[in-house]
Amino acid sequence: MTSTSGLNLVAGQWTAAHSGKVFSRRNPADDDDLVGEFPESSMADVEAALPALAEGAAEWAAASADRRAEVLGRAAGLLEERRAELAAELVREEGKTLAEATAETTRTSLNLRFYAGEAHRVAGASYPADDGGLVYTWREPVGVVGAITPWNFPLTIPSRKIGPALAAGNAVLFKPSPVTPLMAQRLVEALLAAGLPSRAVALLHGGAAAGAAAAADPRVAAVTFTGSTTAGRAVHALVGPSRRAQLEMGGKNPVVILQDADLDRAARIIVKGAFGLSGQACTGTSRVIALRQVHDPLLDRVVELAGKLAVGDGMRPGVDMGPLAADFQLRKVLDHVRVGQEEGADLMTGGHRLTGGGRERGLFVAPAVFAGVCPEMRLAREEIFGPVLGFQCAADFEEALELAAATEYGLASGIVTRDLGKALAFARRSPSGLVKVNQPTTGTAMNVPFGGLGESSSQTFKEQAGPTAMLFYLREKSVYLSPLD
Ligand code: NAD
Repeated sequence: MTSTSGLNLVAGQWTAAHSGKVFSRRNPADDDDLVGEFPESSMADVEAALPALAEGAAEWAAASADRRAEVLGRAAGLLEERRAELAAELVREEGKTLAEATAETTRTSLNLRFYAGEAHRVAGASYPADDGGLVYTWREPVGVVGAITPWNFPLTIPSRKIGPALAAGNAVLFKPSPVTPLMAQRLVEALLAAGLPSRAVALLHGGAAAGAAAAADPRVAAVTFTGSTTAGRAVHALVGPSRRAQLEMGGKNPVVILQDADLDRAARIIVKGAFGLSGQACTGTSRVIALRQVHDPLLDRVVELAGKLAVGDGMRPGVDMGPLAADFQLRKVLDHVRVGQEEGADLMTGGHRLTGGGRERGLFVAPAVFAGVCPEMRLAREEIFGPVLGFQCAADFEEALELAAATEYGLASGIVTRDLGKALAFARRSPSGLVKVNQPTTGTAMNVPFGGLGESSSQTFKEQAGPTAMLFYLREKSVYLSPLD
């Protein structure tokens, strides 16, 4: 397969990094397959990009809502036309299954179309004025937005940041994850081909240094970040108090199973939430809290289903779970499995590297299920972000709630029950921004606000959904207007 020589987009030109340094990206299912080489950006590249972005911001802010909507809609169409090719590239670069990658490419176009519509809905308010005048609020773009993104949804997460940022009339400095640079390149290519002024977007490949330089620069008016809580805290400190930061970060998401649950259904919900996307979803299920009456039969079912998952290259038909995305992911997962055993949890299945059957050069692990996980164990507290699931046992609903809430994170939680009263009580009392009843913790709708509580989010602005998502990218002025006579 051919590899791609990726480039940064700076001042409307595709260009190498100032330092000339590059990094390479390999297929996580096959280390021999070089996806491409991409520039390793630094502060010098951020410096080079910002003056043109300021010009691009002015040009794009002056564009009509019709034009902004047209560009976003056209970019969505271009991605749709290339969906099959793009999904295959996404499998190759990140390691999803083809079905997961196809769903992601589809959602990305939908996101862009959704925000195309939002371009027309930017509105302020008017207020009564005593003197026959007018008081109104006026919303305008913030200027240059920094978008720093993770690798696990390399198209959809950027699209739900860049989409609203552009719909609101801003320019965007896009710093994607170094794990998925090709997808970032494809998204920016589509926006340019759709007619976005080339100075209204900059693409800077690279890692933390480039992200930190972008976050620290006062010319970047607002920084939207999705990634780990550790990096998010660093970004927040760099942005400081007088610029905007929106942070969506890690999770340690529980699912509570009550005694009335259909256990076959509950097991399927758990397995999808825990091992879909190879467990590399921020909303992925990492803890099961089962009531004592159903704990053992549920555990048996989950262990059986996990053991049956076909793990392999996401392009292969019949594969349920692809590889982990990167070496550091594989090391982290194997390390947590070892620590879990050392801490005394019972490894019921999986947790080992898989190398046979064409998987010799890939980052494959068997989905792991632990039983006997205690609240103080690292398995119960730390985000693993891989296919590792821990079972905890609760005596009753109150204890289940307590165990579910025993985490610094607050991204997603779930409950499986037929008891509507308990479901509603759980939704009210669970300290997470997303609550699922009889559904996997993963999977969210494009038009619904999304964001965490606790250490999962800055809780400043929600992502994903109309007005709440747009507000981050708009600043507001209050205008008092009186007649002179
Ligand atoms: P990460 O924090 O390592 O990196 C995210 C992005 O931040 C990357 O572009 C990275 O280069 C950049 N970065 C890292 N350190 C930085 C720094 N000091 N300053 C500026 N930029 C910096 O995360 P990741 O490994 O790419 O993604 C996995 C993490 O993302 C998990 O913790 C997961 O839970 C989280 N995530 C959260 C959500 C959500 O919506 N809450 C969604 C997806 C992923």
